[in-house]
Amino acid sequence: MRVVVVGAGVGGLAAAARLAALGHDVAVHERAATHGGKLGRYRRDGFAFDTGPSLLTLPHVFDDLFAATGGPADLVLDPVDPACRYRFADGTVLDLPHDPAAVPAALDAALGPGAGAAWSALHARSGRLWQLVGEPVLRRPLTAPDLLRFSRRLGDLRTVAPWRTLRGLGTAMLPDPRLRAWLDRYATYSGSDPRRTPSVLSVTAYVEQHFGAWYVRGGLRGLADALLGRCRELGVAVHLGSEVLGIEVRDGRVAGVRLGDGPVPADVVVSDADAAVLYERLLPAGVAGRARRSLRRAPRSLAGFVLLLALQGREPGPAHRVFFPADYDAEFDAVLGGRPTPVADPTVYVHAPDDPALRPDDRGEGWFVLVNAPPHDPVRGVDWDAPGLAERYADRVLAVLAARGCDVRDRVRWREVRTPADLERDTASPGGSIYGTASHGAAAALLRPANRSPVPGLYLVGGSAHPGGGLPLVALSAEIVSGLVGPA
Ligand SMILES: Cc1cc2nc3c(=O)[nH]c(=O)nc-3n(C[C@H](O)[C@H](O)[C@H](O)COP(=O)(O)OP(=O)(O)OC[C@H]3O[C@@H](n4cnc5c(N)ncnc54)[C@H](O)[C@@H]3O)c2cc1C
Repeated sequence: MRVVVVGAGVGGLAAAARLAALGHDVAVHERAATHGGKLGRYRRDGFAFDTGPSLLTLPHVFDDLFAATGGPADLVLDPVDPACRYRFADGTVLDLPHDPAAVPAALDAALGPGAGAAWSALHARSGRLWQLVGEPVLRRPLTAPDLLRFSRRLGDLRTVAPWRTLRGLGTAMLPDPRLRAWLDRYATYSGSDPRRTPSVLSVTAYVEQHFGAWYVRGGLRGLADALLGRCRELGVAVHLGSEVLGIEVRDGRVAGVRLGDGPVPADVVVSDADAAVLYERLLPAGVAGRARRSLRRAPRSLAGFVLLLALQGREPGPAHRVFFPADYDAEFDAVLGGRPTPVADPTVYVHAPDDPALRPDDRGEGWFVLVNAPPHDPVRGVDWDAPGLAERYADRVLAVLAARGCDVRDRVRWREVRTPADLERDTASPGGSIYGTASHGAAAALLRPANRSPVPGLYLVGGSAHPGGGLPLVALSAEIVSGLVGPA
């Protein structure tokens, strides 16, 4: 069959590779001048930065992907150890080991006796949850009736506890407020607020500790390059700078896509564009009205404000560092509340990879700094293009870091600021939201836009569709879609 894939993000490339390996005739059309979507790269003066993901979890999902499309990729994965250094508002520092067996002792040492046992109980519970809703849910397409049947079958609703929020779970199981902040942060992995995210999202923490935190040597962007290479080996035609302006629907089923220079016929279209863009802009009005309406009701996930810092000198330390604020709730109110505003005192995440491939020489190092931010919304929210805002806020983030014991201001050779508006321009993600819609509400995490659209022949991959955002889930969405389309 002739397959057109809209978008060369990880989801689009993974779907293209899988469908080509199944014998289909596949073309990818990407509006940007480069591949990879949010898995971007920025280069300047010998520095190279990953502009999107810095943490890879569930690496076996990518092993499966490459195995199914021709064999292992030429990528070296290194464990990140410690997985992360956390600095809490009271100044406590916790280095979370890569090895889960070492976590309880590290917690007891940093936070006091009992913290390790509390974490172990949570980890065991989340492990049971992973058995129930991990592979069974994430590796297959899911519809509302499926979910109902599935939850009846579980017989262990108490474990899934769809009525409980991630915050509620933390409050019940983690006596130490610092550990609760640590758990809350996992809601942001799906761009959501822990007070509204179902507790099932605790599997995110489990996955990171059980399967480990990983780094792709040379930078995570290497994954996008490997996927592009695999597509090309399989004969996929990848067209960069080729925006899809619309999806053609004829006699109730998909007929192809429309480019600036005319239509491209296809039997199957796979969209890696954000689901909201697909339903609001690419499909003709009057098609798939129900899916469109239900998406309109869902809130957008959070976006990110990014600083790329070219630093003078090197001070190697943990690759991943999180600096928590005193008032985490104020951050969620600012980013996902009714009156969005840049967070005054944000959690700051630093990725400081000690990787010679990313620096010009050993006299400098590059840091990626990320804080949660409201999506770009000049009408009802924050206008990230407002003159001076981005630079002022960048200064603010560096001052916050300094106040938390990490002052790099006199080491900055230059900095590159990337706002949610920039991410929107680069990847066409509405407002620069990172994860499509937020996972708020009992079934939200499990009921994202379906991989099979209501239009026969049209499928959705990528982070805005089921099973969700983040590299491994996006790769799983491609596995699901290739399964739905089937062999040529
Ligand atoms: C700052 C940041 C940090 C992150 N950190 C992590 C992390 O540490 N770990 C992790 O696992 N994940 C992380 N993520 C999330 C991860 O990057 C995404 O979930 C994943 O890359 C999304 O892939 P995708 O294919 O769904 O979408 P995208 O990467 O958004 O790709 C969609 C592509 O479709 C193209 N497109 C859209 N519309 C059209 C059109 N009409 N015509 C043609 N092309 C079109 C876009 O240009 C884009 O290239 C992070 C993301 C960001 C932005």
